[in-house]
Amino acid sequence: MALSQLLLPLLVLCLASIALGITNPFRRSNDQNGRCTYTFTVPSQSEESCPDPGQTMSAMQALKKEHGTYRLELDSVQSRLNLLENLISQLDRSHAPSAAAPALGELQKEVETLKRDRAQQQRAAHILEETLVNLQREKVTLEEEKDRLQQANIALVQTLESRQQELAELRQKPCPQVARAPVQDARLEPRQVSRWEADSGAYQELKSERTEIPTTRHFQEIPSSLNGSSSREATTTGCGELRWVGDPLTFRRAENIAGKYGVWMRDPEPVSPYTHETIWRINAVGSDIRQVFEYDNLDDFRKGYPSKVHVVPQAIESTGAVIFKGFLYFQKRKSRILAKYNLSLENLTLQKELPNAGYHGQFPYSWGGYTDIDLAIDETGLWAIYSTNEARGLIVLSRLDTETLEVQQTWETAIRKQAVANSFMICGTLYTVSSYSLPDAVVNFAYDTTTGKSRELHIPFKNRFRYNSMIDYNPTLKKIFAWDNFNMVMYDVQLSKM
Ligand code: CA
Repeated sequence: MALSQLLLPLLVLCLASIALGITNPFRRSNDQNGRCTYTFTVPSQSEESCPDPGQTMSAMQALKKEHGTYRLELDSVQSRLNLLENLISQLDRSHAPSAAAPALGELQKEVETLKRDRAQQQRAAHILEETLVNLQREKVTLEEEKDRLQQANIALVQTLESRQQELAELRQKPCPQVARAPVQDARLEPRQVSRWEADSGAYQELKSERTEIPTTRHFQEIPSSLNGSSSREATTTGCGELRWVGDPLTFRRAENIAGKYGVWMRDPEPVSPYTHETIWRINAVGSDIRQVFEYDNLDDFRKGYPSKVHVVPQAIESTGAVIFKGFLYFQKRKSRILAKYNLSLENLTLQKELPNAGYHGQFPYSWGGYTDIDLAIDETGLWAIYSTNEARGLIVLSRLDTETLEVQQTWETAIRKQAVANSFMICGTLYTVSSYSLPDAVVNFAYDTTTGKSRELHIPFKNRFRYNSMIDYNPTLKKIFAWDNFNMVMYDVQLSKM
């Protein structure tokens, strides 16, 4: 606009200059204040002459042309200016507080809410994934348990059929004319064993196996005898024959299916860094049992706070493991190899085959569970309780050298291994338990290795939770440790004075 205002006076001035005889074109320049100034010269009288009208028209056309050029430039500048103003206006609206600000705030809130929802969904997805993994793990464990139970059921059906056949044969035979040999004779005859196995107790055990409903009874008691001073008071070196077994007391209940059966114990002769307070636990459900839980004391054990979880390099088979003088002795999975593991140094120090021993379901106890090789500790040392093809399923007992795992001596009993629920050693005598599921079972046989003689017993033994998978004696505490259907229990015992 300012340019057009300047051009009009310029045109007038030019026409005036023509009228006045100004011949030279204007000279344009800026003064000190930045204003545009025009200068021209006037010819002297001698040089005076009228301008040619054609020259005037040319000057006017040149001026018009120049004016048009300026006009175009001005329009271009104006357009660019409008464009810039629009841009600035848009920028102002986007940056300055305006009516759009509340909407922007709402938008930001919505974004935050979406972010939170997304985080919650991610967390929920993570929890679902973990739950799925746990469920899959439990499914595998339950399937293994199912397989094992099916196997045990088949074995029991076969046993029952065999016993019924033997019973039928016995009934067909005439009564013996001579007095029956006393039970405590050196070796039970196969027929006598069969007669015992075919009695109502064996049948009830099978019936129980098929109808067993896991008990919900559960209690936590803290027998003072497991606490430090009392346990030391209970430490004796006396030996004798088993006379009585007390009621089981629960010290802990396993929290999941992996603890339906297992092993727990105290080392009868612990060595540093372990003490008489240290408690050991192995959950024995599953096909890859390697974890051995170590607890500093009973309190930690009851609370479920292990001080360490050992992972042994070879998988452990079943519930026959023992801990003695700082070493874990166990049967390597799916083999007759016995392994010795140093708990403090965490290394496998020895592996040795137990000659001819059946394994992995060949000669288990009546509850199955691959309990083919059961290790035991008593006042005299380390024992292996098992069977062989040669012994046709009767219990074979071997005393082992704890240093070399060599068999020092072997005894063959007349007790069918699959007819008893479990066994343990006290003072060189093997004791067997009649049932793992009957609440009122009995310690039914004793085999004395010093005399090589068996005798029948009727010492009450309670399976309070009706699924006793491990029974072992601690010669220092003079107690029986057992694992009965998720429950880690202990029994007091009384021995005769010898
Ligand atoms: Ca045992």
